[in-house]
Amino acid sequence: MTNKLLKKNALFNPDGDIEIHLRKMIGGNSTNLNDFNNMRYSWVSDWYRQAMNNFWIPEEINLTQDAKDYPKLEPAERKAYDKILSFLVFLDSLQSNNLPSISEYITANEINLCLHIQAFQECVHSQSYSYMLDSICSPEERNEILYQWKTDELLLERNTFIGDCYNDFQENKNDFSLMKTLIANYILEGIYFYSGFMFFYNLSRNGKMPGSAQEIRYINRDENTHLWLFRNIILELKKEEPELFTADKIALYEDMMREGVRQEIKWGQYVIGDQIQGLTQQMIADYIHYLGNLRWTSLGFEPLFPENLTEPETMNWVSQYSNANMVKTDFFEAKSTAYAKSSALIDDL
Ligand code: ZN
Ligand code: ZN
Repeated sequence: MTNKLLKKNALFNPDGDIEIHLRKMIGGNSTNLNDFNNMRYSWVSDWYRQAMNNFWIPEEINLTQDAKDYPKLEPAERKAYDKILSFLVFLDSLQSNNLPSISEYITANEINLCLHIQAFQECVHSQSYSYMLDSICSPEERNEILYQWKTDELLLERNTFIGDCYNDFQENKNDFSLMKTLIANYILEGIYFYSGFMFFYNLSRNGKMPGSAQEIRYINRDENTHLWLFRNIILELKKEEPELFTADKIALYEDMMREGVRQEIKWGQYVIGDQIQGLTQQMIADYIHYLGNLRWTSLGFEPLFPENLTEPETMNWVSQYSNANMVKTDFFEAKSTAYAKSSALIDDL
């Protein structure tokens, strides 16, 4: 079957459809009016409320202790800190730049509202890294970390894989390449951030770099809503565009997920290795396999790694950090009871 070409949303389109039943994720005819009174996708109101509740400001987190800790980190910790930060800087930059190109082809205004908020949050994440770097190291060290992804071979290889996925949609504006970009987003939000997150949380539980871990917790909380958004977009497309979910296409998405998991483990083992107190290569592999299962089954498919169906017991401290006051996996069910009433993390660590 040939792929359907997608038409970019017209900016001004008085002839667009107003009726909700005509609104769809892709291939619709949107007026572009921000009509939040009449939503086709009602889960958006829960998502929006959560995203607004999550608003935070990087500078409100105190990094004084981190500035003292950073020069005293063990060489292996320091190397991992720098490389992981370099990767996160790249991921959040890529996200903030790529999301607008997705929303140009999404024809439901309420979904575009979410994508714009997400893009804003990715910018806040990028800025939080610059605040961290400014606080802990010299301008020379800072630039070395910011651009390490251009010279570290493995880091560049990873970023090339993700960049190529996104570039494919830049060059081929059809429904199938959009779908692959959505899957790549879902993998990025749900898998790629995690060996980084776990490293920062591990440092913090060893009494080091507490402010950095706190920054990461706020980022993590946002990333969970992004994951929720992309999961829902994909599930809606599953209903609306069954031709994007034929057996051979699902097999391809599955390959992408497996490759994403493989790369994250390879990367996590490379940057963290076995020299950091509290983490081992086995723990990294088990945890990322578990996340792969969680992400893939959340899309309605069978687990990929039967050995890792439950959260590894050695890693439950990760969710203690990342699930602070509300960011639970049942979040996916979009229950309004999962809301935080204020934007602050309640520190229960
Ligand atoms: Zn982000
Ligand atoms: Zn994100």
